[in-house]
Amino acid sequence: MKNHRYNKGSAAAKNLLEEYGFESLLDFSLELFASGLGATVIEKPLVNSDGRIIFGKKHTIIEINQDIEFEQKKRFTLAHEIGHFVLHKGIDIHNDTEATTSWFNNKEKQAKNGRVEYEANQFASELLMPSTLFYEKQKGKKFSPQLLRDLAVFFKTSITSIAFKYFELGDHPICLFHSHNKTVSYWKWPDGYPHFIIDRTKLEPPEDSVAMEFFEKGKIYAKHQAKQQIWKSTWFDLKHWEDDNDFNFFEYCIISSSHNSVLSVVWEE
Ligand SMILES: [Zn+2]
Repeated sequence: MKNHRYNKGSAAAKNLLEEYGFESLLDFSLELFASGLGATVIEKPLVNSDGRIIFGKKHTIIEINQDIEFEQKKRFTLAHEIGHFVLHKGIDIHNDTEATTSWFNNKEKQAKNGRVEYEANQFASELLMPSTLFYEKQKGKKFSPQLLRDLAVFFKTSITSIAFKYFELGDHPICLFHSHNKTVSYWKWPDGYPHFIIDRTKLEPPEDSVAMEFFEKGKIYAKHQAKQQIWKSTWFDLKHWEDDNDFNFFEYCIISSSHNSVLSVVWEE
Protein backbone atom coordinates (compact mmCIF):
# COMPACT_ATOMS: atom_id res chain seq x y z
CA MET A 1 0.00 0.00 0.00
CA LYS A 2 1.07 3.56 -0.66
CA ASN A 3 2.58 5.31 2.33
CA HIS A 4 -0.64 6.00 4.10
CA ARG A 5 -0.44 8.14 7.18
CA TYR A 6 -3.34 8.00 9.55
CA ASN A 7 -4.37 11.31 11.05
CA LYS A 8 -6.24 11.82 14.30
CA GLY A 9 -9.69 11.13 12.80
CA SER A 10 -8.79 8.14 10.67
CA ALA A 11 -6.58 6.62 13.39
CA ALA A 12 -9.48 6.76 15.86
CA ALA A 13 -11.77 4.90 13.43
CA LYS A 14 -9.09 2.34 12.62
CA ASN A 15 -8.46 1.69 16.32
CA LEU A 16 -12.16 1.38 17.03
CA LEU A 17 -12.67 -1.21 14.28
CA GLU A 18 -9.68 -3.18 15.53
CA GLU A 19 -10.83 -2.96 19.12
CA TYR A 20 -14.23 -4.43 18.21
CA GLY A 21 -12.76 -6.94 15.77
CA PHE A 22 -14.31 -5.61 12.57
CA GLU A 23 -12.49 -5.66 9.25
CA SER A 24 -15.22 -3.35 8.02
CA LEU A 25 -18.82 -2.42 8.84
CA LEU A 26 -20.14 -3.43 5.43
CA ASP A 27 -22.24 -6.25 6.85
CA PHE A 28 -23.12 -4.64 10.13
CA SER A 29 -25.72 -2.02 10.93
CA LEU A 30 -24.17 1.36 11.58
CA GLU A 31 -27.06 2.21 13.94
CA LEU A 32 -26.27 -0.87 16.04
CA PHE A 33 -22.60 0.02 16.02
CA ALA A 34 -23.45 3.50 17.32
CA SER A 35 -25.72 2.13 20.02
CA GLY A 36 -23.01 -0.35 21.03
CA LEU A 37 -20.79 2.66 21.64
CA GLY A 38 -23.54 4.27 23.70
CA ALA A 39 -25.32 6.62 21.33
CA THR A 40 -28.96 6.26 20.30
CA VAL A 41 -29.71 6.99 16.65
CA ILE A 42 -33.02 8.56 15.70
CA GLU A 43 -34.19 9.42 12.21
CA LYS A 44 -36.57 12.35 12.08
CA PRO A 45 -37.26 15.44 10.03
CA LEU A 46 -34.66 18.14 10.75
CA VAL A 47 -34.78 21.71 9.53
CA ASN A 48 -31.57 23.00 7.91
CA SER A 49 -29.62 20.07 9.26
CA ASP A 50 -28.37 16.72 7.96
CA GLY A 51 -27.54 15.39 11.36
CA ARG A 52 -26.80 16.45 14.89
CA ILE A 53 -25.52 15.07 18.12
CA ILE A 54 -26.82 15.88 21.57
CA PHE A 55 -24.52 14.94 24.42
CA GLY A 56 -26.36 14.25 27.66
CA LYS A 57 -25.01 13.34 31.08
CA LYS A 58 -25.98 9.70 30.64
CA HIS A 59 -27.27 9.33 27.12
CA THR A 60 -26.16 10.70 23.81
CA ILE A 61 -28.57 11.05 20.96
CA ILE A 62 -27.66 11.25 17.29
CA GLU A 63 -30.40 12.62 15.07
CA ILE A 64 -30.27 12.04 11.33
CA ASN A 65 -32.51 13.91 8.92
CA GLN A 66 -34.95 11.34 7.54
CA ASP A 67 -35.40 13.45 4.40
CA ILE A 68 -31.85 12.97 3.18
CA GLU A 69 -32.45 11.64 -0.29
CA PHE A 70 -29.65 9.12 -0.65
CA GLU A 71 -29.05 6.22 1.73
CA GLN A 72 -25.28 6.54 1.18
CA LYS A 73 -25.35 10.14 2.32
CA LYS A 74 -27.34 9.21 5.43
CA ARG A 75 -24.70 6.62 6.15
CA PHE A 76 -21.86 9.08 5.76
CA THR A 77 -23.65 11.63 7.97
CA LEU A 78 -24.19 9.02 10.68
CA ALA A 79 -20.54 7.97 10.50
CA HIS A 80 -19.59 11.67 10.81
CA GLU A 81 -21.73 12.02 13.95
CA ILE A 82 -20.20 8.85 15.43
CA GLY A 83 -16.88 10.58 14.82
CA HIS A 84 -18.00 13.53 16.95
CA PHE A 85 -19.21 11.09 19.59
CA VAL A 86 -15.85 9.34 19.77
CA LEU A 87 -13.58 12.36 19.30
CA HIS A 88 -15.40 15.41 20.56
CA LYS A 89 -17.26 14.59 23.74
CA GLY A 90 -18.15 17.71 25.60
CA ILE A 91 -19.53 19.97 22.92
CA ASP A 92 -23.20 20.41 23.88
CA ILE A 93 -25.21 20.21 20.71
CA HIS A 94 -23.56 19.96 17.38
CA ASN A 95 -25.39 20.59 14.14
CA ASP A 96 -24.24 19.39 10.74
CA THR A 97 -25.28 20.71 7.36
CA GLU A 98 -24.10 20.30 3.80
CA ALA A 99 -21.37 22.79 4.64
CA THR A 100 -19.89 20.96 7.61
CA THR A 101 -19.95 17.46 6.11
CA SER A 102 -18.46 18.62 2.82
CA TRP A 103 -14.72 18.15 2.42
CA PHE A 104 -13.80 21.29 0.60
CA ASN A 105 -15.73 23.81 2.67
CA ASN A 106 -14.15 22.40 5.78
CA LYS A 107 -10.66 22.99 4.55
CA GLU A 108 -11.51 26.61 3.90
CA LYS A 109 -12.89 27.05 7.36
CA GLN A 110 -10.19 25.05 9.02
CA ALA A 111 -9.03 28.07 10.96
CA LYS A 112 -12.38 28.23 12.76
CA ASN A 113 -14.29 25.13 13.79
CA GLY A 114 -13.17 23.34 10.64
CA ARG A 115 -10.65 21.15 12.44
CA VAL A 116 -13.39 19.36 14.34
CA GLU A 117 -15.32 18.79 11.11
CA TYR A 118 -12.22 17.66 9.27
CA GLU A 119 -11.53 15.10 12.00
CA ALA A 120 -15.12 13.83 11.93
CA ASN A 121 -14.95 13.47 8.13
CA GLN A 122 -11.63 11.63 8.29
CA PHE A 123 -13.15 9.38 10.95
CA ALA A 124 -16.23 8.70 8.81
CA SER A 125 -14.10 8.00 5.75
CA GLU A 126 -11.99 5.41 7.58
CA LEU A 127 -14.97 3.86 9.38
CA LEU A 128 -16.88 3.30 6.13
CA MET A 129 -13.87 2.71 3.88
CA PRO A 130 -11.03 1.12 5.84
CA SER A 131 -7.85 2.12 4.00
CA THR A 132 -6.40 -1.36 3.64
CA LEU A 133 -9.64 -2.71 2.20
CA PHE A 134 -10.09 0.32 -0.06
CA TYR A 135 -6.61 -0.05 -1.43
CA GLU A 136 -7.15 -3.75 -2.14
CA LYS A 137 -10.48 -3.10 -3.89
CA GLN A 138 -9.08 -0.57 -6.37
CA LYS A 139 -5.67 -2.20 -6.88
CA GLY A 140 -4.85 -3.05 -10.49
CA LYS A 141 -8.12 -1.64 -11.83
CA LYS A 142 -8.13 1.01 -14.55
CA PHE A 143 -9.37 4.36 -13.27
CA SER A 144 -12.81 5.37 -14.59
CA PRO A 145 -16.06 6.93 -13.35
CA GLN A 146 -17.45 3.39 -13.28
CA LEU A 147 -14.69 2.31 -10.89
CA LEU A 148 -15.69 5.10 -8.51
CA ARG A 149 -19.36 4.09 -8.81
CA ASP A 150 -18.51 0.43 -8.19
CA LEU A 151 -16.52 1.41 -5.10
CA ALA A 152 -19.42 3.58 -3.88
CA VAL A 153 -21.79 0.60 -4.19
CA PHE A 154 -19.36 -1.73 -2.47
CA PHE A 155 -18.60 0.64 0.41
CA LYS A 156 -22.20 1.94 0.56
CA THR A 157 -21.08 5.53 0.75
CA SER A 158 -21.35 8.67 -1.33
CA ILE A 159 -19.46 8.96 -4.60
CA THR A 160 -17.94 12.23 -3.34
CA SER A 161 -16.39 10.56 -0.30
CA ILE A 162 -15.16 7.77 -2.62
CA ALA A 163 -13.49 10.34 -4.91
CA PHE A 164 -11.63 11.86 -1.95
CA LYS A 165 -10.56 8.44 -0.68
CA TYR A 166 -9.37 7.52 -4.16
CA PHE A 167 -7.43 10.76 -4.35
CA GLU A 168 -5.58 9.71 -1.18
CA LEU A 169 -5.12 6.02 -1.86
CA GLY A 170 -5.90 5.21 -5.48
CA ASP A 171 -3.34 3.87 -7.96
CA HIS A 172 -4.01 6.50 -10.63
CA PRO A 173 -3.28 10.17 -9.88
CA ILE A 174 -6.41 12.34 -10.08
CA CYS A 175 -7.05 16.06 -9.53
CA LEU A 176 -10.18 17.41 -7.88
CA PHE A 177 -11.84 20.77 -8.53
CA HIS A 178 -14.88 21.91 -6.61
CA SER A 179 -17.12 24.59 -8.09
CA HIS A 180 -20.14 26.15 -6.48
CA ASN A 181 -22.51 28.67 -8.08
CA LYS A 182 -20.26 28.84 -11.15
CA THR A 183 -17.19 29.67 -9.04
CA VAL A 184 -14.20 27.44 -8.37
CA SER A 185 -13.95 27.20 -4.60
CA TYR A 186 -11.20 24.68 -4.07
CA TRP A 187 -8.92 22.25 -5.87
CA LYS A 188 -6.28 19.73 -5.01
CA TRP A 189 -3.70 17.76 -6.93
CA PRO A 190 -1.43 14.89 -5.95
CA ASP A 191 2.08 15.55 -4.68
CA GLY A 192 4.55 15.75 -7.52
CA TYR A 193 1.90 16.02 -10.25
CA PRO A 194 3.70 16.68 -13.55
CA HIS A 195 1.25 19.34 -14.80
CA PHE A 196 0.72 22.78 -13.43
CA ILE A 197 -2.79 23.84 -12.43
CA ILE A 198 -3.85 27.41 -13.15
CA ASP A 199 -5.33 28.71 -9.91
CA ARG A 200 -8.94 29.68 -10.56
CA THR A 201 -10.08 29.92 -6.98
CA LYS A 202 -12.95 32.43 -6.80
CA LEU A 203 -13.04 32.56 -10.61
CA GLU A 204 -15.36 30.82 -13.07
CA PRO A 205 -14.52 27.27 -14.15
CA PRO A 206 -12.78 27.12 -17.57
CA GLU A 207 -15.04 27.95 -20.52
CA ASP A 208 -14.49 24.52 -22.12
CA SER A 209 -14.73 22.46 -18.93
CA VAL A 210 -17.49 19.93 -18.29
CA ALA A 211 -18.24 21.77 -15.05
CA MET A 212 -19.00 24.92 -17.03
CA GLU A 213 -21.32 22.96 -19.34
CA PHE A 214 -23.41 22.17 -16.26
CA PHE A 215 -23.48 25.76 -15.02
CA GLU A 216 -24.15 27.32 -18.43
CA LYS A 217 -26.41 24.74 -20.05
CA GLY A 218 -27.52 22.49 -17.19
CA LYS A 219 -25.82 19.62 -19.00
CA ILE A 220 -25.56 16.38 -17.02
CA TYR A 221 -24.04 13.46 -18.90
CA ALA A 222 -25.56 9.99 -18.72
CA LYS A 223 -23.52 7.33 -16.93
CA HIS A 224 -21.99 5.84 -20.08
CA GLN A 225 -20.86 9.31 -21.22
CA ALA A 226 -19.67 10.50 -17.84
CA LYS A 227 -16.04 10.34 -18.93
CA GLN A 228 -15.54 13.38 -21.16
CA GLN A 229 -12.35 14.15 -23.02
CA ILE A 230 -10.97 17.63 -22.42
CA TRP A 231 -7.86 19.54 -23.47
CA LYS A 232 -4.87 19.72 -21.20
CA SER A 233 -5.23 23.50 -21.44
CA THR A 234 -8.75 23.30 -19.98
CA TRP A 235 -7.57 23.03 -16.37
CA PHE A 236 -3.78 23.07 -16.73
CA ASP A 237 -1.08 25.38 -17.90
CA LEU A 238 -0.07 24.46 -21.47
CA LYS A 239 3.59 25.30 -21.99
CA HIS A 240 4.41 27.13 -25.20
CA TRP A 241 6.40 24.14 -26.48
CA GLU A 242 3.54 21.73 -25.80
CA ASP A 243 0.73 20.74 -28.16
CA ASP A 244 -2.74 20.18 -26.74
CA ASN A 245 -3.21 17.28 -29.17
CA ASP A 246 -0.45 15.30 -27.46
CA PHE A 247 -2.35 14.85 -24.20
CA ASN A 248 -5.22 12.66 -23.12
CA PHE A 249 -7.11 14.40 -20.33
CA PHE A 250 -10.57 13.55 -19.06
CA GLU A 251 -13.10 15.17 -16.74
CA TYR A 252 -15.87 13.44 -14.82
CA CYS A 253 -18.32 15.69 -13.00
CA ILE A 254 -20.07 14.62 -9.82
CA ILE A 255 -23.00 17.02 -9.78
CA SER A 256 -25.18 18.10 -6.91
CA SER A 257 -28.01 20.00 -8.59
CA SER A 258 -29.71 20.86 -5.32
CA HIS A 259 -26.58 22.68 -4.10
CA ASN A 260 -25.61 23.92 -7.56
CA SER A 261 -22.17 22.44 -7.07
CA VAL A 262 -19.85 20.26 -9.12
CA LEU A 263 -16.89 18.13 -8.17
CA SER A 264 -14.71 17.72 -11.27
CA VAL A 265 -12.48 14.67 -11.25
CA VAL A 266 -9.71 15.26 -13.81
CA TRP A 267 -7.10 12.74 -14.91
CA GLU A 268 -4.67 11.91 -17.69
CA GLU A 269 -4.46 8.58 -19.50
ZN1 LIG B 1 -19.90 17.77 12.27
